[in-house]
Amino acid sequence: MARILKYPLTVLLVTAALPALSAILTGTGEQDFARLRSAMVRDQIVARGVTHRATLQAMRTVERHLFVDASLSSRAYEDNPLPIGYGQTISQPFIVAYMTSLLDLKPEDRVLEIGTGSGYQAAILARMADSVYTIEIVKELAASAKKRLQDLGYHNVEVVPGDGYYGLPGNAPFQAIVVTAAAEHIPPPLIEQLGEGGKMVIPVGSQFMVQNLILVEKKKGRITTTNLMPVRFVPFTREETR
Ligand code: SAH
Repeated sequence: MARILKYPLTVLLVTAALPALSAILTGTGEQDFARLRSAMVRDQIVARGVTHRATLQAMRTVERHLFVDASLSSRAYEDNPLPIGYGQTISQPFIVAYMTSLLDLKPEDRVLEIGTGSGYQAAILARMADSVYTIEIVKELAASAKKRLQDLGYHNVEVVPGDGYYGLPGNAPFQAIVVTAAAEHIPPPLIEQLGEGGKMVIPVGSQFMVQNLILVEKKKGRITTTNLMPVRFVPFTREETR
């Protein structure tokens, strides 16, 4: 009996293994990425207490694996930041979701981001707000993020190369501002450009010390700040020629 079954069993096993083998040879399929994205939202984001529905929906939709180098796409949904070149990183998914959820964006909001990097955070914001302006100090990253966002159809994002310390006075006020590099202090021009009732989320602290994620709110012209949690971001750098 065992002998009779031996051959069919081998055939059966090889047949069953074929789809897995082809996935290994051709890379992960789109369906697998969608599944990885749902698992990322469930296990890394909802599990840590983020409940803001529009944020969760955006995190389930934006194809994070298209914002990293192809050699890293299989790791795009892991619970950590990933390198994007020039010493910079795409932030950990949970951090992107947490920061976004705090802004409580409305569909009519105009948002400013400092630190475009890969353009991933900008894409998340663009799904929830009217328009996104995002400033990136590394020219090459600004150019590649601009092209990526255009190719993916994010027409409501404007990538601006330059030092985000000064914000974009010509487009202010912004209902929300998100800074994705750690500054030593909150840049006064950004507080200035925050609209009435607006919210800013910014990591503050030096590169070698604990940084704090801070929520800044402007209510009736008054500024309040709330310390949220210790975080670790790449440093906010400054253009020397200004
Ligand atoms: N939001 C990004 C994460 C990028 S990491 C993403 O989703 O991929 C932070 C980025 O801030 C880096 O690309 C860095 O070059 C940029 N940065 C640092 N200081 C800056 C400044 N003063 N103005 C604009 N961008 C800055």
